[in-house]
Amino acid sequence: MTYIQPELPYATDALAPAISQETIEYHYGKHEKAYIDNLNRLIKDTEYEDMELEDIIRSASGALFNNASQAWNHIFYFFTFSPDGIREPEGHLRKAIDEQFGSFDQFKKAFEDAGATIFGSGWVWLSKDNDGKLFITQTSNAGNPLTEGLIPLLTFDVWEHAYYIDYRNRRLDALKEWWKIIDWDIVSARYV
Ligand code: MN
Repeated sequence: MTYIQPELPYATDALAPAISQETIEYHYGKHEKAYIDNLNRLIKDTEYEDMELEDIIRSASGALFNNASQAWNHIFYFFTFSPDGIREPEGHLRKAIDEQFGSFDQFKKAFEDAGATIFGSGWVWLSKDNDGKLFITQTSNAGNPLTEGLIPLLTFDVWEHAYYIDYRNRRLDALKEWWKIIDWDIVSARYV
């Protein structure tokens, strides 16, 4: 199997100013593409060639894990945004967020704090377990909650390449702005 980088469901300038066209062109066009190209090169003619991407992430290590997980993480990340989605969770997910974190604002603050305090490169996640309980977790580098038995719902990329063009060193400002482009219909659809 050869992985194809999925087309973005929005124009490269559609998320500006929260994420600029230049960032999309580099982050999606060069970084994400490189992870997928590397993944394809690394699985070719190996036992991983016909394995599902999630199973590669759960079983591989080293360069294959890094590129497989970064491919998954970036596709997931870019498919959480939209220029015109709903900007607050509703329904079951909203109820679970309110119950577990006190309010949507308190959830956002906890998520921003977790993202801002990751040392170096990584990802901050909202995930659920099999019982629907929510978790905010941090992963370093290419890490993914799938390896911890959790099901990801939402992630912010805190590698410098995700925000440095638009926000320079102000990672927390980036995290605060990205709420404006999250499509909670997409996040809620993952909470089943
Ligand atoms: Mn990235």
